[in-house]
Amino acid sequence: MTTRTHQNTTDAAPQQVPHHEAPTFGNPDQPAEGTINLVGDTGSARMEGPRNPVLEGQFPSATNAPATDISTQPFFWSSFNISPRRQQAGGWARELTQADFAISDEISGVNMFLAAGGIRELHWHQTAEWAVMTRGRCRVTMLDQRGRPSVEDVEAGDIWYFPAGLPHSLQGLGPEGAEFVIAFDDGSQSESNTLLITDWIAHTPPDVLAKNFGVPVETFKDIPLHNLWIFQGAEPGSLEADRKAAQVVEGTEAVIFRLSRSPAIKQNDGGRIQFADSSNFPIAKTIATALVTIEPGGMREMHWHPNADEWQYYLRGTGRMTVFNTGPKATTNDFRAGDVGVVRRNLGHYVENTGDDVLQFVEVFRADRYEEVSLANWLGHLPPELVMQHLNISPEALASFPRVTQGIVPIAKAIGA
Ligand code: MN
Ligand code: MN
Repeated sequence: MTTRTHQNTTDAAPQQVPHHEAPTFGNPDQPAEGTINLVGDTGSARMEGPRNPVLEGQFPSATNAPATDISTQPFFWSSFNISPRRQQAGGWARELTQADFAISDEISGVNMFLAAGGIRELHWHQTAEWAVMTRGRCRVTMLDQRGRPSVEDVEAGDIWYFPAGLPHSLQGLGPEGAEFVIAFDDGSQSESNTLLITDWIAHTPPDVLAKNFGVPVETFKDIPLHNLWIFQGAEPGSLEADRKAAQVVEGTEAVIFRLSRSPAIKQNDGGRIQFADSSNFPIAKTIATALVTIEPGGMREMHWHPNADEWQYYLRGTGRMTVFNTGPKATTNDFRAGDVGVVRRNLGHYVENTGDDVLQFVEVFRADRYEEVSLANWLGHLPPELVMQHLNISPEALASFPRVTQGIVPIAKAIGA
């Protein structure tokens, strides 16, 4: 059972209480939801119908919501762990599009693995492609709209961005190959509706191919008649040799960014936030990213984003998030590595690390800039009398609130010390 420490309104010492029995102050929900209603009547909490203990164990906040949760709202949890995996020689992929995850209309996601030498064939699509590397190494190529090529190697913690319509390829490098998560800037984009070079060549009259490339028709007698999508290829040689062969010119706009090695915009003993958007990664005009790392006991502070929905991919650890919506509605859910969450723009949320391990996730936005509004920063920049009349708290209590955007709440502050 996860526990957290609460400061009582009296002078009594803080006490450890289970999440679902945590004291609630001024719960607006009448009658209250949750086990706070039981008042000794445990019989009314009986669940004797069919149950799935594995799922219940993964979603404790669904079965036993905090008493402050109210009503319901569109489901904002999904996971690559429940997505069918398309396996080919050379690698696999599984995806989450709006068809599977209704709320996710701004971003669709693909989790892909390419074995060493495995190739995601030459292709392009109608949406921009962003990706974060999670394991191994990958060689990426792209041609920009001015005809300039890029050839780069990426590793865990790096991201890439290919603008819509620009052709590219991916290839796993040894020894581990490459695993990564792609985000497209359109929730309906699927990994199986891309424009593949083999499909176009196979569906062009051979005499047109011959005319186009200035070669005999027989040149194309052995082309694949079905697309390759992912296939096992030979591992490429050195990056330098490939860059030379592709005639890469120095100074071409970067298509990759070393996100996990970039300076943190927020950092304290509770964790850190790193970011990439068009201000430090100029090519990324339609996708902004934050890489959030939260230490055990830490919490991503209460905040919202005014410019786009937040699409989350959980890389590591376990977390809990409540989404606050109009109505009011408030819904809490639990997340694990491999899961995906979506928070509509402007809806309030926090993310708590509920485990003993580091919690890490990426926030992905269909926007050119990373933007957030911090609740603490807002309250810290108002006339104190105005805030006190809303919250009915003392001047001393308000004065002890953080006055700035913290990003991650420091550990010492989070436990009420
Ligand atoms: Mn692609
Ligand atoms: Mn957020």
